[in-house]
Amino acid sequence: MNIKKHLKLFNTYSRKKEEVIPLNKNHINMYTCGPTIYDFAHIGNFRTYVFEDLLRKTLKFLGYNVIQVMNITDLDDKTLNGAIKKNISLYEFTEPFRQAFFEDLDALFIEKAEFYPKATQYIEKMIEIIQDLKNKKFAYKGADGSIYFSIDKFKDYGKLSHLNLKDLKKGASNRITQDEYDKENASDFVLWKIFDPKRDGNIFWDSPFGKGRPGWHIECSAMSLSLLKNTLDIHCGGIDNIFPHHENEIAQSEAYTNEKFVNIWAHSEHLIVDNKKMSKSLGNFFTLRDLIKMGYSGREVRYMLMHTHYKTQLNFTLEGLKASRSSLQRIDDFIDRLNSIKENNDFSLIDTILKEEREKFNNALIDDLNISIALSSLFDLIKKVNTLIDQDKISKNEAHKTIKYLKEIDMILSVIFTKEIEEVPDSIIEAMEKREDARKNKNFALSDELRDYILEQGYIIEDTKEGPKAKKK
Ligand code: AMP
Ligand code: ZN
Repeated sequence: MNIKKHLKLFNTYSRKKEEVIPLNKNHINMYTCGPTIYDFAHIGNFRTYVFEDLLRKTLKFLGYNVIQVMNITDLDDKTLNGAIKKNISLYEFTEPFRQAFFEDLDALFIEKAEFYPKATQYIEKMIEIIQDLKNKKFAYKGADGSIYFSIDKFKDYGKLSHLNLKDLKKGASNRITQDEYDKENASDFVLWKIFDPKRDGNIFWDSPFGKGRPGWHIECSAMSLSLLKNTLDIHCGGIDNIFPHHENEIAQSEAYTNEKFVNIWAHSEHLIVDNKKMSKSLGNFFTLRDLIKMGYSGREVRYMLMHTHYKTQLNFTLEGLKASRSSLQRIDDFIDRLNSIKENNDFSLIDTILKEEREKFNNALIDDLNISIALSSLFDLIKKVNTLIDQDKISKNEAHKTIKYLKEIDMILSVIFTKEIEEVPDSIIEAMEKREDARKNKNFALSDELRDYILEQGYIIEDTKEGPKAKKK
């Protein structure tokens, strides 16, 4: 399939929107940093994964063949700590969270990537890279016996995050052993942590540098180089990954391959709460499971996470989630109306509307995934077609054409036809029928009693053209 239009994406590296032109025909190699499975992922993490899903589906829609890798970090300071505290193996500790992660992806209608490698499966490759970096003098053994990457040796260090290293280094210590740190501490980072029984319990791997375990950053370099090409078309993550994680990935990978690591770096802004990043450490987080327990659906959460442009911070509130619910209700009501049209004669008014909105929708998405405009085009379409329905100027065939269009754009959005099947139980249908009879017979006491029963069961009664219908509250 020939690509007619290329997607434009904001590249963190060049700070410009750039056309995505794959290195190999229309095949896209895409690496996306995945979850650390020491707990359930929170919806902040899922904002980034939903953005990556939108990117992936848009690329596929345009005709690209996408090969996506998302790593699963089952080995870092946090997973190790968790396993040691519970006195179980790393596998026993992390596996339930890995399973839960896939369940959450399904609940949010996130399409599966081609590969989900676990860090513990790529230790051999990590050792190979570290050995090479040591041979080339990019890496050295510290006084504590661990192996560090020397950022001074990599002349482009800081190029992604546009750091002025000279200023930063004034106050910085020269070596860092933790996996996570901030810009103020830009320094040599650990590639191989020498075994420390107090810290690591009995979890270690053998290597030419001694017993120990890899640092977090080297994991992504090893997995992307093993499963994709030396040069990736796109690499994604949340903006907190830019420094130090992605900066370190560049240094290790380019020092190892001598080739450019990534063409386009795409980073999504954070989901925030009261102006602070939603995160485990601040305790200001919700998991998807929390929200589902509160009665929200995965579809509603997906809509909420997706509806704001990925380069804009998104403030999480329950009101925002309720607003997403109302938007989806408008879509559902629209589809119900389209399905109820019986007219056989065409009016030839729908084609112009579909053409116009299709163009608006496509142009918005290929312009750096402008989802807000794409969704406003969907609601404009609903408004215009609703007017045709009000005026009885749409046929059954034209309603089907509209549904077909909605199915087409839902290949990207995954919010239109993903409504969980909420079957109305027989007992409610029966009560509705009895209530209708009671109303016809002017037995208002019985009709009110039945209405209250239906409400108590969690359903509301809506009057439609075809008569009253029950819907879940
Ligand atoms: P972690 O498990 O902390 O390594 O994070 C996994 C992914 O979620 C990374 O790409 C992070 O950048 C991203 N992430 C973490 N917190 C947030 C947030 N509040 N909003 C958006 N993305 C986030
Ligand atoms: Zn990563």
